[in-house]
Amino acid sequence: MNSGKWIVLLGAPGCGKGTQSELLVNSDFSFKVICVGDILRENLQTVVPQLGKTVGEIIGNGTLLPDAVIVDFVKNAMAKIDDFLNTNLIFDGFPRTLGQAEALLTMTKALGHKISHVINFEIDDDVLVKRITGRSKCKDCGKIYNDYFSKPKISGVCDICGCKEFVRRSDDNETALNKRLSEYYSKTQPLIEFYKNLNLLYSVKADTDTSIVYKNVTEILSR
Ligand SMILES: [Zn+2]
Repeated sequence: MNSGKWIVLLGAPGCGKGTQSELLVNSDFSFKVICVGDILRENLQTVVPQLGKTVGEIIGNGTLLPDAVIVDFVKNAMAKIDDFLNTNLIFDGFPRTLGQAEALLTMTKALGHKISHVINFEIDDDVLVKRITGRSKCKDCGKIYNDYFSKPKISGVCDICGCKEFVRRSDDNETALNKRLSEYYSKTQPLIEFYKNLNLLYSVKADTDTSIVYKNVTEILSR
């Protein structure tokens, strides 16, 4: 009777939806993740007949894959999961555009199923900027710190191993972040309106404790 909850998580880079997704996978819901980034990486050599090129060539050129092609990949990945219609699924990194959302709607209808919840992780830009640009990692033990939220007890010295060297991701600077945020807002923000109109949108405040966010998410999913 097709009882799987199929959910979409929306939120700007750094909102913490990856962490929430992991918690849901390991919860009683036993969600499985359909990660479009992974699917595309596995299909770099696959030829897209409409364009006569491989996925790798298309992405390498900076061209977007047609929505229908991405949805086909998603559908194939879903079909590989045993009894997928009755399995709880999280769509990760997808849909990213209105076209993809419409194609997903058509695909789920054709399967006699639907998206049950779209959870939007709300967070202020300045918190995101601090979360991402403030992030550093101990070079030796990998412990994560943040200049604004979780500094080492002694400045410049790792709490765990005493190492004095820290590494930062190269894309953690503010210019790169602003580019990612504006891309997110222009492409993904319209999805919020789209899912609101379908009465599927639920919002969660994401600028608080992981455990509190998680509690709110599971309450929504139990409705
Ligand atoms: Zn350390």
